[in-house]
Amino acid sequence: MALAEPSSSGRFGEFGGRYVPETLVPACHELERAFRSAWGDPTFRNELDGLLADYAGRPSPLTECHRLSEELGVRVLLKREDLNHTGSHKINNVLGQALLAKRMGKTRLVAETGAGQHGVASATAAALMGMECMVFMGEVDIERQALNVFRMKLLGAEVVPAVSGSRTLKDAVNEAMRDWVATVETTHYCLGSVMGPHPYPWMVREFHTVIGTEARAQCEKLLDGGVPDIVTACVGGGSNAIGIFSGFADTDAELVGVEPAGGAAVGRGVPGVVHGMKSYLMQDEFGQVQEAHSISAGLDYPGVGPEHSFLSSIGRARYEAVTDEQVIDAFQLLSRTEGIIPALEPAHALAWISRDREQLAGKTVLLNMSGRGDKDVGQMMDILG
Ligand SMILES: *Cc1c(COP(=O)(O)O)cnc(C)c1O
Repeated sequence: MALAEPSSSGRFGEFGGRYVPETLVPACHELERAFRSAWGDPTFRNELDGLLADYAGRPSPLTECHRLSEELGVRVLLKREDLNHTGSHKINNVLGQALLAKRMGKTRLVAETGAGQHGVASATAAALMGMECMVFMGEVDIERQALNVFRMKLLGAEVVPAVSGSRTLKDAVNEAMRDWVATVETTHYCLGSVMGPHPYPWMVREFHTVIGTEARAQCEKLLDGGVPDIVTACVGGGSNAIGIFSGFADTDAELVGVEPAGGAAVGRGVPGVVHGMKSYLMQDEFGQVQEAHSISAGLDYPGVGPEHSFLSSIGRARYEAVTDEQVIDAFQLLSRTEGIIPALEPAHALAWISRDREQLAGKTVLLNMSGRGDKDVGQMMDILG
């Protein structure tokens, strides 16, 4: 099966949907109509393809890891999203949404951010297109991520502290949605992953299918028309994973998402409603949303995109969890064997390959290298000394 469009109510099986206040329903409808029309319009597609090529640097290469493969006994191929402008896959989504916002006549973007990576990407796209940008960020995260806050300001964005609740990512999402309700005439909400109310999980997936489409063609060339045995990616909200899965959903390749052990929404969560969608969610025994904990701030989200919950429920994809210690080892392993310092997020996927290498012996595994590690070297220096 190829990844399907969600139902008219925005569902993937029982997951997804649109659980938002009345006041947001018209904005979601307007966005869905605008996206559907843009996505079917060759002029929009050509303009976006042009930006992805000439601004973001696509196509990203496929790299065969000879020394790593020899060490693990598993043939590892990397899809190099770390080589995109701004250093991760996130640019695919923000260029798509900013271009769409412009087409809708909006002049302002609001965004939420946790570690600051999506805020930086949104501010980048806004600068490129001459739009205003306001980024909501938990007060706690603002203190922890001073460098990204400064980057956003350099790019001309305003960073607004979210002061409610635990003052982290989930509170920033709520405040961004609140701003959007009040300013929808002029403003587009640029959501950072395949989550939230319909049409976001579908729209953000479509903006990332370029990863899977390129990787499929690159694998066919390298593997003489074949496909890898396994396609794997880290899962926070799940956008880089769904992007690469989309290129292989109709093949025999096994799809494996890797979550942090402290934020394993699919692996350990239960179905619930948060941020406008129904999906697996980390909850305590009283049904309260639990804080996620991970060495990688980019994966610190207690929920997961609804399509991953669906793919898990039908058995098309499976989800593994790795510990912070395993991630730290994988971070060093790739640096030492291939000269590629990975972001801590995709180091989760490599940590799974490394941990389970005996079961994976002799297989070919395609890993989505969702981002580069420059942002994480300071943190690793503190840990490794
Ligand atoms: C933000 C980020 C992620 C997590 O987001 P997904 O939506 O799960 O892809 C993963 N890797 C990198 C490098 C990121 O910046």
